[in-house]
Amino acid sequence: MSDSALSPVPLLDFSREYQAHREELLAALIEVADTQRFILGPAVQQFEASAAASLEVEHAVGCASGTDALWLALAALEVGGEEGVAERGQQAVVTTPFSFFATVSSILRAGGVPVLADIDPLTFNLSATATAEAIERHHTASGAQVAAIMPVHLYGQCADMDAFTTLATQHGAVIVEDAAQAFGAKWNGVQAGSLGDAAAFSFYPTKNLAAMGDAGMVTTHDAATAERATMLRAHGMRKRYFHDEVGWNSRIDSLQAAALSVRLRYVEAGNARRREIAALYAEAFTAAGLVSDSVTTGIVLPYTDPRAEHVFHQYVIRAPRRDDLRAHLASLQIGSEVYYPLPLHLQESLASLGYKRGDFPHSEKAAEEVLALPIYPELRDDEVATVVEGIRRFYA
Ligand SMILES: *Cc1c(COP(=O)(O)O)cnc(C)c1O
Repeated sequence: MSDSALSPVPLLDFSREYQAHREELLAALIEVADTQRFILGPAVQQFEASAAASLEVEHAVGCASGTDALWLALAALEVGGEEGVAERGQQAVVTTPFSFFATVSSILRAGGVPVLADIDPLTFNLSATATAEAIERHHTASGAQVAAIMPVHLYGQCADMDAFTTLATQHGAVIVEDAAQAFGAKWNGVQAGSLGDAAAFSFYPTKNLAAMGDAGMVTTHDAATAERATMLRAHGMRKRYFHDEVGWNSRIDSLQAAALSVRLRYVEAGNARRREIAALYAEAFTAAGLVSDSVTTGIVLPYTDPRAEHVFHQYVIRAPRRDDLRAHLASLQIGSEVYYPLPLHLQESLASLGYKRGDFPHSEKAAEEVLALPIYPELRDDEVATVVEGIRRFYA
């Protein structure tokens, strides 16, 4: 297809999945409407039970969003800086500056102090070495241990949970996984969401398990943590109108739970297809002679740690002249996106954390070089070829 016009390839096309599962999805929504059980009814219980079974984790607690799931997980583990618990002070949580904003804002919302550490440039995930250094620095500066580590399984690949488990044990910290992009991902064969003390999932419509609106979920092996999350998502009530703690209204909507139960049946096949598409991209980029192990000389393909089973929530390359490439692709109507263009330590709203440009060079470099290409189970092989051809023309 050397000089011919290329067909457009959208970054995402939800209508394909919707058309394929329309009958089932609508039937599930109608069932909730017919029963009029809109708040925490059987649809929610059923989704929580099947999600827990699918993730091989003891407890799953649905909530209003992934952002709320992060906050609920921290609050359920009593990490943060709860008022009235002055002796605990403001607790520190180590996490990555190269993530979606909610990773850090949820720590602030829980009353904690985000302590940032740089990423591993190969996987884009929080570096365990940098985390160990940040823990030491925090200890030297404040005399306190950090309360929690929050690794993000970015783009659908688990962070180095071997190293984080060791660090957490050494320092008496808990682990909260930000698994918002990683439903079905595994580390040493164990599922994301069951690797730490608690985990947060997002079912935002672009995620690999998607609601028809906002929804999220906390998972944990610990019964007491699950019970606290359940209590906190409904105004801190164990008994109706008796409020043991100041919780919040963060219930998962029953209609969303019903839609999620349908889509849960397809998520594993969807993840397998995502891996297949990732392999097709790698093959096509290699065949086109575009691949390098340094972004100064070519495209750097995503790296998968041998201990990880990647679900390719995103397929993210490093690209020379990234912004020009992106404009070129846009002119061909080929979708692409930058997750994320400004690391969290440089966000205006987080200036009070006291970081500056240069503090996390791997994150800053990634923000300038990463480009996410179309990937979703319904993407066709010929569309993958079109994306690669569009990129080949740019560098030709
Ligand atoms: C999507 C996402 C969130 C937030 O989830 P919402 O459901 O949009 O609130 C948090 N962390 C990461 C890494 C995400 O990708």
